[in-house]
Amino acid sequence: MNRIDLHGIGMTSQRTRERLIQRLVDQGVSDMAVLDVMRTTPRHLFLDEAMAHRAYEDVALPIGFQQTLSQPYVVARMTELLLAAGPRSRVLEVGTGSGYQTAILAQLVDEVYSVERIKSLQQKARQRLRTLKLRNVHMNHADGAMGWEECGPFDGILVTAAPEQIPEDLLLQLSTGGRMVIPVGGEYQHLQVVTRTHEGYETDIVEAVYFVPLCSGKEK
Ligand code: SAH
Repeated sequence: MNRIDLHGIGMTSQRTRERLIQRLVDQGVSDMAVLDVMRTTPRHLFLDEAMAHRAYEDVALPIGFQQTLSQPYVVARMTELLLAAGPRSRVLEVGTGSGYQTAILAQLVDEVYSVERIKSLQQKARQRLRTLKLRNVHMNHADGAMGWEECGPFDGILVTAAPEQIPEDLLLQLSTGGRMVIPVGGEYQHLQVVTRTHEGYETDIVEAVYFVPLCSGKEK
């Protein structure tokens, strides 16, 4: 686990960020550790300059390559669902994107293994996490639908792009007692929480969401 040293990082006004946190609370986010980390993580650093002024609005924002940085509410909700059954030690994230969700996770779990299929996004994310000195993040340029077998099994898996069906490899790389939070569907998607038990898998359907699709293969 890791905390960001805010010294020297230009921050948008405290009031703007406090307003965002209040909005998350109003929408039902209640995990104080998650809210704390979202309060202190500089979301504007995860956006290109042209978008940075909108960083503390509760909206998804473009990061290039037709991809988006998830809406803060969705990041908070998915993170609290992942942690709801107790602390997680090794977490696989599929879809690094800007690296913002990665940064949130890195401050709440022991080790984060993050897979991204678009190399340029991964490189920018790596740089940002380095700036924030979050050193418990491991990155892989690969098709995350296959998970990251060498580093598994994982007691947490968080997927930030939506498959039509949950990839088999992700289910297999979940340890017993492990939890996966994943959006599933095409035009209509639902957030699902999958728990691996001794007997098999249990699935809870949480709420409607909208994510970019989980694509196969990898790109420069
Ligand atoms: N958590 C990110 C979300 C980015 S959008 C953020 O908040 O910034 C989803 C990301 O998933 C994109 O970067 C996209 O390139 C990536 N992605 C889509 N399919 C993937 C796959 N099969 N493997 C790895 N990454 C994938």
